Amino acid sequence: MEGENPVIIIRNAAATSKINVTKLRGNVSVLEGSGGNIVVLTGRDGKVLVDAGITASRLQITEALANLSDDPIKHLINTHWHFDHTDGNEWLHSIGAEITAHENTRKHLATTTRVEDWNFTFPAAPAGALPTKLLNSEQTLHLNGATLALKYYQSAHTDSDISVYFTDADIIDVADTFWNGHFPFIDYSTGGSFDGMIRAAEANVAGVTDKTIVIPGHGPIGNKSQLIEFRDMLVSVRNKVSTLKKEGKSLEEVVAAKPTADYDAKWGGFVVDGIFFTRLVYAGV
Ligand SMILES: [Zn+2]
Repeated sequence: MEGENPVIIIRNAAATSKINVTKLRGNVSVLEGSGGNIVVLTGRDGKVLVDAGITASRLQITEALANLSDDPIKHLINTHWHFDHTDGNEWLHSIGAEITAHENTRKHLATTTRVEDWNFTFPAAPAGALPTKLLNSEQTLHLNGATLALKYYQSAHTDSDISVYFTDADIIDVADTFWNGHFPFIDYSTGGSFDGMIRAAEANVAGVTDKTIVIPGHGPIGNKSQLIEFRDMLVSVRNKVSTLKKEGKSLEEVVAAKPTADYDAKWGGFVVDGIFFTRLVYAGV
């Protein structure tokens, strides 16, 4: 797979991969296996999905959702604009889901958008895929007897990231500000910021307790100690790369110095390996 485009890797994986369903608490479940993690809240107001997965997995997702309950799918929240969280918007909207997102998610989906570090240009999404309920900073939804607090991160993984906190169940989806066990991607083409990622990681640690269930954008269902470990990894690699860059080292020299060496075995096995991550950090510090 080395050298293959990460967009293609994720799309290919979604077409064939199995969807794993985990019931958490308070009628909240997680579907893993189609792009980013998908959170589902069932109930009389209709299912609420947080993120839409990849369209190629429609059959598997439909089956997994039907096994959870008979409620129709009425609400979709996008945590940010990336394809692995919004690809399924159009089909979910076509069967009745109203789409909520940060206003920058709609902005990026509505036009041709190039992501330089993925070497990929996304065409404008079809009209039905565009979020129509937009938030700018914070919004609270009351659905299925639950309270959902949506909060904007400012610039972090992109400029469109929001968290979704199910307050009664004490479950938070922190979007792609947390990749549990993987080096994260930072999308500088659409307003991401490495220091913003660290600020988001700090806010995530501060916003949860040891009892909170933490849903990352990618990787297994997590907890506070894993948020801390992720934050510490970001800070450590940032400091190493920043020191070398300030000494005048080129990107090639910094990559050769292997600033991620202590972390590669644990964090480097997904779409962002240690070299790619070093490049992202170098560009962002
Ligand atoms: Zn993303």
